[in-house]
Amino acid sequence: DMNIIGTIRLLQAMQAASVKHIVFSSSATVYGQPESSPILEDFPTRVENIYGRTKLVMEDLIRDLARTNKLSGAANLRYFNPVGAHPSALIGETPRGVPNNLMPYVTQVATGERPHLNVFGNDYNTPDGTGVRDYIHVVDLAEAHALALEHIFANNVSVTVNLGTGEGTSVLQLVRAFERATGREIKTLIAPRRPGDVASYYANPALAETLFGWKAKLNVEDMCRDAWRWQAKRAGINDI
Ligand code: UDP
Repeated sequence: DMNIIGTIRLLQAMQAASVKHIVFSSSATVYGQPESSPILEDFPTRVENIYGRTKLVMEDLIRDLARTNKLSGAANLRYFNPVGAHPSALIGETPRGVPNNLMPYVTQVATGERPHLNVFGNDYNTPDGTGVRDYIHVVDLAEAHALALEHIFANNVSVTVNLGTGEGTSVLQLVRAFERATGREIKTLIAPRRPGDVASYYANPALAETLFGWKAKLNVEDMCRDAWRWQAKRAGINDI
């Protein structure tokens, strides 16, 4: 797997160049199907797919290197659901083919590239029956990285930290927020549950605040507005 091989090569190159600090992009997927939310960093990790396995292997490798002083500082950052784009609309995401993730799918419904959003299940044990996630704006995520790097340089420590807002948002809440933020209507159809999906999944992000002095500032409407600004620009639509 490129994740693992690439990380090993990077760690080797770091050693050769005497670079001793690393910030690693991990994922909340390492918690698998958690017992409950909000999720804390000391919850058990569970491997449920290959992607989750690769993230856990790399986290373990980095923690081992830190423990044996081959690295002086490391931050394993467990992202929840990163969405949005830079507000300049100069940096964003363009998944290949049909998007798997909710926000890129919604933005493509808004441009007319897709007729409607399939809502994967509305009979979950959540307030409106649709899946709940902890969406985090990529700009907040980027700021957390800069602060994490400062923290591990200043303290020479190895830390494992959740990055989320701590707010759970359902699929239908996100759709409504998108409509409010952009003035575009998103047609939805209820579809069967997607295999492997968890009902509700959100962070307790308190450790990031304690260690880095970081807290997410942008809300779901900000995420929708910036995701749309990016997608609209790509589609040649001038409306924000
Ligand atoms: N989802 C949906 N329709 C889609 C894509 C996603 O209803 O076309 C739902 C999905 O079931 C989940 C939430 O949106 O409850 C977030 O899904 P995503 O794939 O973005 O993130 P993940 O499931 O990996 O947390």
